[in-house]
Amino acid sequence: MTNQDYLDGNAAAGLLSEVFAADITTAVGQCVNCGDESVVARGRVYVDEHGLILRCSVCGDVLAVAAERAGRLCLDLRGLAWLEFPVE
Ligand SMILES: [Zn+2]
Repeated sequence: MTNQDYLDGNAAAGLLSEVFAADITTAVGQCVNCGDESVVARGRVYVDEHGLILRCSVCGDVLAVAAERAGRLCLDLRGLAWLEFPVE
């Protein structure tokens, strides 16, 4: 591929910093499993020593997993079809 029509990951930093600075509790997401659309704050959170699991309040499937290890935060959002919240 000789024509570079994309930017490297640094170009996403501005937008992504808004994502991760937002108040996630007011964010609305869609469950991949059942299609329910609701605010993150309605989900069920299970916490252990490694981090937390956010489950759908309708079907109980895992929406997101956040785990901390070796000084880094690992975020798995595969249970969310999308996540939406207001930005400035
Ligand atoms: Zn669900």
